[in-house]
Amino acid sequence: MSGTISAVNRTVTPGGRTKVFDVKPLLKMRYCGNVCLRQKSEPIGEIGPSERVLIEAMIEKMHQEKGVGLAAPQVGINQQIFVVDIGLGPVVVINPRIIKRAGSEWQEEGCLSVPGVTVNVKRPKEIRVRYKDENNQEVEQDLFDLMARVFMHENDHLNGKLILDYASWRERGRLKKKLEKLPEKEE
Ligand SMILES: [Zn+2]
Repeated sequence: MSGTISAVNRTVTPGGRTKVFDVKPLLKMRYCGNVCLRQKSEPIGEIGPSERVLIEAMIEKMHQEKGVGLAAPQVGINQQIFVVDIGLGPVVVINPRIIKRAGSEWQEEGCLSVPGVTVNVKRPKEIRVRYKDENNQEVEQDLFDLMARVFMHENDHLNGKLILDYASWRERGRLKKKLEKLPEKEE
């Protein structure tokens, strides 16, 4: 999910997303239109050295892109993993499941894979989740507010879902023009 909830506040714009100091382009962002973003991701087995390299690269990419979350399909990998950092340090989430939902709330959301677009999305306010962390530990947690929202947004990516799917038909018409201008749409 992109930097802020209320508005897309990325310093990195579609035209300027390549940074000159980025000498390690290990992971490449995938944008709306890319098939990876529409596929269901596979569960991950044991976390070993190669998975840890991916995790580190994803955290780095999320910070570079000034996102609060990044899911593997957004960098072209259809595996059930995402990273979140809402300012409290990175959290690694593997094979997530949402087992309880409560309340509901509307909020504007942006997405690194749909730059320049925000959609008002209604989601539960609180959730109980289960997942595996980077140390292969099973975690069960209650999440609230921003953390819950980012978790659900990134979890959507693992199911091939984007914020655009929450837009009303009228809103979709408005977004269509913006989407036509997205970079590397067919990549
Ligand atoms: Zn997203």
